[in-house]
Amino acid sequence: MRHRRLFVLMVAMEECIFCKIRDKELPSAIIHEDEHCLVFKDRFPQAPVHLLLVPKKHIPTIADMEDGDEKTIGHLIKVAKELAVKQNLKGYKLQFNVGKDGGQVIFHVHMHLMGG
Ligand code: AMP
Ligand code: ZN
Repeated sequence: MRHRRLFVLMVAMEECIFCKIRDKELPSAIIHEDEHCLVFKDRFPQAPVHLLLVPKKHIPTIADMEDGDEKTIGHLIKVAKELAVKQNLKGYKLQFNVGKDGGQVIFHVHMHLMGG
């Protein structure tokens, strides 16, 4: 059972477009990169500034967070507020879509930063 879950996770990671963007196997407009996360422009922006903040660790959804992942997710929020200053945003939205019914389309955790 444990091996099957590992196998399913590995297949999901191989097909994950945000893992591929992280590994530079797919192109993206990167705004920021550090040890824990990557930030790039949303390909189909819904606001003048629409960035996606993506942890380097493949976590499918917020509902799949494990102990310790709160540090990574908290880091995304810190990077978002710093980038908002750099982008001269007075106000902005930070949004996680969680699960299919929550509007999530790509199953690698990402936070939307929308403003402007
Ligand atoms: P979500 O609905 O929360 O899963 O959001 C996925 C987001 O990823 C959407 O806003 C898409 O526009 C965006 N997106 C999809 N493919 C790409 C890509 N190759 N590069 C950048 N953003 C993408
Ligand atoms: Zn992934």
